[in-house]
Amino acid sequence: MEDIYCQGCGTAIQTTNKDEIGYTPASALEKDVVLCQRCFRLKHYNEIQDVSVTDDDFLKMVSQIRDEKGLVVHLIDIFDVNGSMIQSLARIIGDKPILLVGNKVDLLPKSTNKKKLINWLKKSAKDAGIKVDDVFLISSIKGHGINELTREMEKARDGQDVYVVGTTNVGKSTFINQLIQQTTGDKHVITTSYFPGTTLGFIEIPLDDHSVLIDTPGIVNKQQMAHYVSKNDLKTITPTKEIKPRIFQLNSQQTLFFGGLGRIDFIKGNKQSFVCYFSNHVSIHRTKLANADKLYEDHVGDLLSPPDEETRGILPDLVQSTFRIKEEKMDIVFPGLGWVMVPDINTTVVVHSPKSVAVSIRPALI
Ligand code: GDP
Repeated sequence: MEDIYCQGCGTAIQTTNKDEIGYTPASALEKDVVLCQRCFRLKHYNEIQDVSVTDDDFLKMVSQIRDEKGLVVHLIDIFDVNGSMIQSLARIIGDKPILLVGNKVDLLPKSTNKKKLINWLKKSAKDAGIKVDDVFLISSIKGHGINELTREMEKARDGQDVYVVGTTNVGKSTFINQLIQQTTGDKHVITTSYFPGTTLGFIEIPLDDHSVLIDTPGIVNKQQMAHYVSKNDLKTITPTKEIKPRIFQLNSQQTLFFGGLGRIDFIKGNKQSFVCYFSNHVSIHRTKLANADKLYEDHVGDLLSPPDEETRGILPDLVQSTFRIKEEKMDIVFPGLGWVMVPDINTTVVVHSPKSVAVSIRPALI
């Protein structure tokens, strides 16, 4: 097939993979104006659709905007901060100002200390080498925090364009669709190629007569739990409403399983209550440490679920890391899955999580 480019965003058209950039059904190639499905939906339904690219392709794409002026809005999922922080961001966007936006705040219990969360996000960004100008918490679904953020975006962009970047599944399409509703109401959005003749795949939404908001494709980050579970399991582990803490009183030498996707062995410390924050659909199971390996072997996929069968085909083996907790009230975070608050000082735990989805620790949010 000779190369055909989308007349909306300029990306190369392909007809084989629905989830990747440039897809359009073969039948649409007959039309006079060929659009990729993403531009087609935006033009006719006023709606942004998610597409993804690999880290490498993203690097190539954004290297072309490195020297442009503008504001970067980096959207992350507060339920999966490790998996959604783009480590290479600073390197690829040049020295543009960055607003870090933590999405899905509606999932957190009301008692969450937002200030602590913001500080932790700042620290996580700094550890990833990203210098952020400000941090916001929003819910794209509920609309929480969107007005405050758009006001700040207006100020921070100073008449320049805005680039929205994020890994897949952080809620970028939901966020942009909220913005489209706010800025254009029912008016249909016109898309144009940002750099005519290049194969970018950025989509533009006009902000005013001179500047635009640019939706960049979602980056696939291999540290995201979402890539190692089936669609069904992703539904199960992704909370859809405010999570309810579940409390387990444990003696040392006991184990907690989070489905069969994560596990904490309580090795040493006083009897204490572990507070677990996971989707209400993930089963949590307590057992003696001495029985835990056998229980996992015999019951992963039934008593300990998810994973379902499809997930078990793609899930990396669980690997162990040891944490010696030296401060009161620390959260052990399983990115993309949830976290456990360990209350007592001088506690040793061994944490099991899928290889490549690194577990981390932070001062308790709640
Ligand atoms: P994208 O891949 O970054 O474009 O993400 P989507 O916009 O497709 O959203 C991914 C998933 O997260 C979907 O299931 C959304 O319903 C969900 N989602 C997006 N924003 C929010 C939010 O603010 N709160 C909650 N609870 N879920 C959200």
